[in-house]
Amino acid sequence: QLSKRLEMVASFIQPARTFADIGSDHAYLPCYAVKKKLVDRAVAGEVVEGPFQSARRQVLLEGLSGQIDVRKGSGLAVLKTGEVECVAIAGMGGPLIASILEDGKEKLPGVKKLVLQPNIAGHAIRGWLDANNWTIEQEEILEEDGKVYEVISAAAGSSQRLSEKEIYFGPVLMKRQNEAFKLKWNRELEQIKLVLSRLSAAQNNESNEKKKHELEQKKQWIKDVMNDEN
Ligand code: SAM
Repeated sequence: QLSKRLEMVASFIQPARTFADIGSDHAYLPCYAVKKKLVDRAVAGEVVEGPFQSARRQVLLEGLSGQIDVRKGSGLAVLKTGEVECVAIAGMGGPLIASILEDGKEKLPGVKKLVLQPNIAGHAIRGWLDANNWTIEQEEILEEDGKVYEVISAAAGSSQRLSEKEIYFGPVLMKRQNEAFKLKWNRELEQIKLVLSRLSAAQNNESNEKKKHELEQKKQWIKDVMNDEN
């Protein structure tokens, strides 16, 4: 049984028939994608020995060694250029996912679709996509076990730039504003208020003032976007 989160990631893979899951850990996602016949072939990439071994074990256990290649290495370095149509990177922070894409840029020609699932700071990914000619086509946000997850699907090529708010909230998510979106941003708002009250109580200095200013702006953005609701 795959988590709701990884099922959502899997639902974005097609129409690709070849797929790589980077930071695959137990390789549940490529195993599921192949078993459900979403793709014909997959690569599972893992940089850490323990998770790499557990990916290998899982693929063997499920009898999928013919279709899934488990490779050890960092980020997109495990791929040959043009080898897969879709790359997924899930379950990490947005800045780490963005740095994996940036470091592996030369492997991206030929990749038609990216499916990215940041646990935090999705704006780091949207900013990277926007600056590197990728178009966000679909986004989802869902709650599972009290945590809220975003999934971003992007296609190669772009004709339009995102606004700062679209990068922060997600162009698709901010239009739709489902329950998980409201939960995430209400939580974020509470967190910002807490940090602001701590900063106000702390000694004044330049860096505190700068931080306060940034947080006040984010607080206002969240209020604006939540009030904008259709
Ligand atoms: N993708 C799975 C999921 O969403 O459930 C596993 C997520 S797990 C929290 C993150 C995995 O990414 C870990 O197994 C970690 O070793 C791996 N990882 C972190 N940085 C990586 C990198 N640069 N290249 C490949 N794997 C990486």
